[in-house]
Amino acid sequence: MTDKTWGQVQADLRKMLGANAYSAWIEPLRLMSVDKGVARIEVPTNFMRDWVARNYAEPIRQLLSSVTGATLDRVDFTVARVRPIPVAEVTGAAKAPRPSRAAAAAAARDDGDLPGAALDARFTFDTFVVGKPNELAHAAARRVAECGPVTFNPLFLYGGVGLGKTHLMHAIAHEMQVRQPELRVLYLSAEQFMYRFIQALRDKQIMDFKELFRSVDVLMVDDVQFIAGKESTQEEFFHTFNALIDQNKRIVISADRAPGEIKDLEDRIKSRLQCGLVVDLHPTDYELRLGILQQKADYYRAQYPGLELAPGVLEFLAHRITTNVRVLEGALTRLFAFASLVGREITLDLAQDCLADILRASERKLTIDEIQRKVSEHFNIRLSDMIGPKRTRTIARPRQIAMYLAKQLTTRSLPEIGRRFGGRDHTTIMHGIRVIDELRQSDPQMGEDVDLLRRLLEG
Ligand code: ADP
Ligand code: MG
Repeated sequence: MTDKTWGQVQADLRKMLGANAYSAWIEPLRLMSVDKGVARIEVPTNFMRDWVARNYAEPIRQLLSSVTGATLDRVDFTVARVRPIPVAEVTGAAKAPRPSRAAAAAAARDDGDLPGAALDARFTFDTFVVGKPNELAHAAARRVAECGPVTFNPLFLYGGVGLGKTHLMHAIAHEMQVRQPELRVLYLSAEQFMYRFIQALRDKQIMDFKELFRSVDVLMVDDVQFIAGKESTQEEFFHTFNALIDQNKRIVISADRAPGEIKDLEDRIKSRLQCGLVVDLHPTDYELRLGILQQKADYYRAQYPGLELAPGVLEFLAHRITTNVRVLEGALTRLFAFASLVGREITLDLAQDCLADILRASERKLTIDEIQRKVSEHFNIRLSDMIGPKRTRTIARPRQIAMYLAKQLTTRSLPEIGRRFGGRDHTTIMHGIRVIDELRQSDPQMGEDVDLLRRLLEG
């Protein structure tokens, strides 16, 4: 496979996709090999890999097949492992927060032997939008990145998928490299840790492995829940961990849940993980989602000059896509790519068309359970009273509000709702709903309470 062949394929793709999409998605790709019907292509970032694999794998496969005359079964996209990190190169220089300093720092380092994962150049503190749900995690990450005296160790970040754990860890690594280029910072996923460990066992290089991991200044292990249940990997991790803590070396760990809640993780590891600072990233709220979208939109507006974004589109997305930030970003990326391909303004209509699948998937299905729980919390009564027989007003009113909201916010029928309120008859539910309807008219406090609860529940 020659560069010329790939050049030919790229030229064809350029004609097919137009200059904008071409320079955004195809130009940065590098064809590495074609072997046994599989073409391997390197992509600079995870984010690009997902997008390109989803949208362009098939055209690339077909074009490559026809240009080479060989049948290709598959195109594999892998993220380039770049070390030292050419920040400027990966981001196209323009968006890198401090390209020259960071690149110089990376170039000055001599840690080619560290078996870490590539850092995503877009994951810096500058591109991390801070809001209520993540402010503590962000502050803690900043503190670690300052490379000051070690006041807490390890830092344990946890939270659901796509809430920014990996982003924060990469940001710490980038920042440390700028501040103290000589630090040996090792970032990798728990899965990679395990893989290295098994490889070292197999190659009988376990001493090298141990030495290497104990020689770093900063160790960051992402998604540590992965090693739960994997006994010997856990054991090795535990020893590495202790050795580094003893030397007062910094450790940053992430997981999808709190240390105590990771099943099949040894207790001594759990308690070790808890002995530093444990902070969680909460699910996003509307303001944070809007902030992230605005930042992304600014970025894309620079990438696709001349593309109009109608007012209200970002607000609509922030309101509707509440699952995770990755999905939110994917939606915006698709929207801009699509609008630029068809040369249209990004309007609400376009968004609804182009994102129908994502919007459908993120329709929130509120359960009666959640409603009962929120309402009882709000009025400070027991959850069991929601379904219990008590009829005093302090209990009955909140219960009726919950019935009212269940009718408004779910698609459940009255008999179904009745069953969920301790087997009450559907006429009781109907009565409850009518009472609240009337009170909302006559009692402003009731109106406010109900609206507030509804907003809380709708996220
Ligand atoms: P996690 O590791 O928690 O699953 P990631 O760190 O991979 O999540 O984040 C998923 C995507 O969402 C990334 O592209 C990341 O840049 C983005 N993201 C998450 N939180 C934020 C934030 N607060 N500001 C900007 N981007 C964010
Ligand atoms: Mg992650």
